[in-house]
Amino acid sequence: MGKALIIGAGGVASVCVHKCCQNSDVFEEICIASRTKSKCDALKEKLDRGKTKISTAQVNADNVEELIELINKFKPDVVINLALPYQDLTIMDACLATKTDYVDTANYEPLDTAKFEYKWQWAYRERFEQAGITALLGSGFDPGVTGVFSAYAQKHEFDEINYIDILDCNAGDHGYPFATNFNPEINIREVSAKGSYIENGKWVETEPMEIKRVYNFPEIGEKDMYLLHHEELESLALNIKGIKRIRFFMTFGQSYLTHLKCLENVGMTSIEPIEFEGKQIVPLQFLKAVLPDPASLGPRTKGKTNIGCIFIGKKDGKDKTYYLYNVCDHQECYKEVGSQAVSYTTGVPAMIGAAMLLSGKWKKPGVHNIEEFDPDPFMDALNKFGLPWKESYSPELVD
Ligand code: NDP
Repeated sequence: MGKALIIGAGGVASVCVHKCCQNSDVFEEICIASRTKSKCDALKEKLDRGKTKISTAQVNADNVEELIELINKFKPDVVINLALPYQDLTIMDACLATKTDYVDTANYEPLDTAKFEYKWQWAYRERFEQAGITALLGSGFDPGVTGVFSAYAQKHEFDEINYIDILDCNAGDHGYPFATNFNPEINIREVSAKGSYIENGKWVETEPMEIKRVYNFPEIGEKDMYLLHHEELESLALNIKGIKRIRFFMTFGQSYLTHLKCLENVGMTSIEPIEFEGKQIVPLQFLKAVLPDPASLGPRTKGKTNIGCIFIGKKDGKDKTYYLYNVCDHQECYKEVGSQAVSYTTGVPAMIGAAMLLSGKWKKPGVHNIEEFDPDPFMDALNKFGLPWKESYSPELVD
């Protein structure tokens, strides 16, 4: 049905490439392009025997001209951005210049301020609309599937949703005292930032890890979870009718938190450059270099993830609660595509989002968050491509 250019060749991109090849009716041809071409070639080598035609390229996605040249050469129908959030705007600029649809999994974040919000990408709305191209923002799991779940709950289960709690539990154990499950720099910037949630249309800010709850996750059991700021809160509060409060919780084990506190206390998580032996270095980037590569955690990680949303609202004048979630097993993912569940739960929805655009099921010129589209074909594809969802009408609630 079409051609996709995949930018990035890390943990998430690797899963997405596997899944595009499993969906070769839609992805007839893909090009994997990243800063380090050898990683793209290694993926091609692994998957080249299927029906999807694969090519590779070297690209610096910080450079708009290089991106435009690559897009003009490969002529993709859609660009799937699986590099880092810092590259979102340059890739969107290149898509605009070449009139190509765009998909990503994380919103833009400037390198020098660890603050992620949609304003930079929403500023492209009119230009994308005028160019007749679609940008699908946040097609990972969270953001991503959490937005699709919200749109599905709104369409089929509620007249009005008043409260959403997004719960992200990773009960995987990789056996290291400290490692992050995806890009360490992005992960640590996210968890060491202040927490926040939206109540009655306003952001309420908390200290990092200030709000803790214990939740009994289906198929996993009791885990400590902490309220974090998360990007989908901003768009869901606008796009879901009747929202009074929306929060995001993520589980962390005690060992992870103790290590993180210590690293913070000694200044290793700072993004302010320092002078070291005559060279400027960013402590967090140095820390990334000494931590295990998330891609190497796959074979070691055991256990499951459970990510989902609890909705509280009204249907036919009556109060109603509804929980939609997915449980994913790290080792099953590794067996299937050679990656652990955190990359898997992001790479599968990235492929599905791009498939929605390629197949024409979702086509809406402009810049849109995922919950603005019809959730039904995406929900079907989740069941088909390895992330089946489960539902409960009497979940334990978070106070
Ligand atoms: P990795 O660090 O494993 O991979 C990033 C890839 O991008 C690497 O191949 C890297 O190349 C490449 N890259 C970085 N900078 C550039 C550049 N300037 N030009 C070209 N390529 C570049 O990250 P992940 O795969 O773990 O994460 C990918 C994205 O997914 C991130 O944006 C992350 O925030 C997002 N994510 C979203 C989630 C969700 O649920 N929505 C969950 C988890 C992640 P090189 O190898 O040379 O460094």
